[in-house]
Amino acid sequence: MVTGLVCAVCGTAVPISQALSWKCPLASDVDTHHVLHFENSVEPFRPNDDSNPYLAFRKYLAVDSFGAAIGLSEAERIRIIQETNEAVASIAGTGFLRTPLYRSSELSDALGFTAEGGVWIKDETHNVAGSHKARHLFTELLHLLFAEAAGVAPWTVSTRPPLAIASCGNAAIAASTLAAAVQWPIYVHVPPAATAEVLTALAELDADVRVCARLPEDEAGDPCVLRFREAVANG
Ligand SMILES: [Zn+2]
Repeated sequence: MVTGLVCAVCGTAVPISQALSWKCPLASDVDTHHVLHFENSVEPFRPNDDSNPYLAFRKYLAVDSFGAAIGLSEAERIRIIQETNEAVASIAGTGFLRTPLYRSSELSDALGFTAEGGVWIKDETHNVAGSHKARHLFTELLHLLFAEAAGVAPWTVSTRPPLAIASCGNAAIAASTLAAAVQWPIYVHVPPAATAEVLTALAELDADVRVCARLPEDEAGDPCVLRFREAVANG
């Protein structure tokens, strides 16, 4: 299980019970090069057979250790994971599932492999929101929901501050899908070159889309990321 976080650069330890532990407390605008790593206890790796990967691997997820540390019972953590996954499925048409791994006889034959070898495919194309991005964001969402449920978040259900992301496609759609599933407002910063398909998908998910052209006073870097950072700095 995950027992805590430690900065790989400066060694600062962050307890697993810390809410919103997104970055090293010693990182600053002028010293951004810090990164928190998870610390784990040594134990056998034995996920269970649940089709929901967040339940199958729950005991090894930092967010589960966080939920336990802030006082949520195991039953409560499982309930939030299940209900949130069902909410995602109601928006995306699928919840999070183990993705299929299989031997492709067509590709194996075409490339001349024998029956002992071959080409194996890990099919990630049927994921929530059409890419793997939502998988990474789901534990972040669970962290927010756990903090809210345990009363350690600086907001309540009725005063949730907007989420924010900078992306030109998959990650924006993934984040907006998860936000829509729990009716959490989200600002999505996209470049002027974002495609009509992406903008239509984001509109259907009720995302607050902000098209970010470069401003004359902008420093170097992606204007979407600059506007995203401003949104985060403003709460
Ligand atoms: Zn640090």
